[in-house]
Amino acid sequence: MNVDRRRARRLAAQLHDMRSVACALSDGLFVLDPAARLRWCNPAGARLLGLAWPGDRGVALAGRLGGDASATWQRLEQGDSAEIPAPTDSGVRLQLSLLRFGDGLRLLLAHDVSQVRRLEQVRRDFVANVSHELRTPLTVIHGYLELLDPEDVPALAPVLREMRVQSQRMRQIVEDLLVLSHLEMQERLDEERVEMAPLLESLRREAEALSQGRHRIELLDQARHDLLGSGKELHSAFSNLVSNAVRYTPDGGSITIVWRRVGDGAEYAVIDTGYGIPAEHLPRLTERFYRVSSSRSRASGGTGLGLSIVKHVLNLHEAQLEVGSEPGKGSTFACRFAGSRLLARP
Ligand code: ADP
Repeated sequence: MNVDRRRARRLAAQLHDMRSVACALSDGLFVLDPAARLRWCNPAGARLLGLAWPGDRGVALAGRLGGDASATWQRLEQGDSAEIPAPTDSGVRLQLSLLRFGDGLRLLLAHDVSQVRRLEQVRRDFVANVSHELRTPLTVIHGYLELLDPEDVPALAPVLREMRVQSQRMRQIVEDLLVLSHLEMQERLDEERVEMAPLLESLRREAEALSQGRHRIELLDQARHDLLGSGKELHSAFSNLVSNAVRYTPDGGSITIVWRRVGDGAEYAVIDTGYGIPAEHLPRLTERFYRVSSSRSRASGGTGLGLSIVKHVLNLHEAQLEVGSEPGKGSTFACRFAGSRLLARP
């Protein structure tokens, strides 16, 4: 009897401790029954979603998320996280996730990500402002350098040529940073039918112009579909991949541009027989300024921003970049589009 009572007291103390911990958390915790009705929430949860506790015990929580609550709930049910403005204060951003436990019970977690989002915004504004401020002085310097003819001052000719190359490089970095800032500010792009046949033709011409006959270039237009998206941004992303293939493939190699069906969707792929990329670098390729070899990137006129631009453009089209590569053999960069983005050619 005594043992039972001691055990019961110990369990009660443990329960009390766990509840105190849950109450002290700054994240919102909501325990939901199998019908998604509120069983319990901690004080942070009540504050973040504007609930009264215990008055709101038993309410259907999905209806208290504000905004497009049913879409948010659907995403959570599918196991994705969702970000919403707090129903009580639109300046507060909440990241929600749903965990299943026990017998059909669920735990909804609400984490305040406002500070992180604000810092991201400060970082974005800073990069955009710096790039914008640098653009004009760089254009002036570049303009004057173009006016100076190395032939007029032979002693300084090599220096002048190097200055021109470097000022062009700086301009290209600033332009790419501005493109990235612009893309980051977009939530969605204006969409249109992007006719793939002329786009692919123009990409082939770009590859030929960049290669200047140093590579064998082939175009395989097999998908027989157009794309729904932003023509300008897709061209920029696709052309970055073409330019990389040319720059990272030694003379005599071949480059194939393919537009083909994959499952329900389609992919635009650029396949080269170039230097290739060791596997450990693949996960980081789309980070800004990440390069496998800085010297090779610089020597070929790279800014280190091309693949970040590609990733952002693809994100805005709910598409993915798949990279396959083998050092010394070559690489394949493929942009995968869902079937919902395909339009049959007329
Ligand atoms: P960069 O301007 O340096 O080319 P990117 O963002 O376009 O920057 O690419 C990042 C890095 O990925 C490059 O520096 C290069 O090392 C590697 N890379 C990209 N495309 C290829 C390719 N087709 N073959 C080999 N390496 C590549």
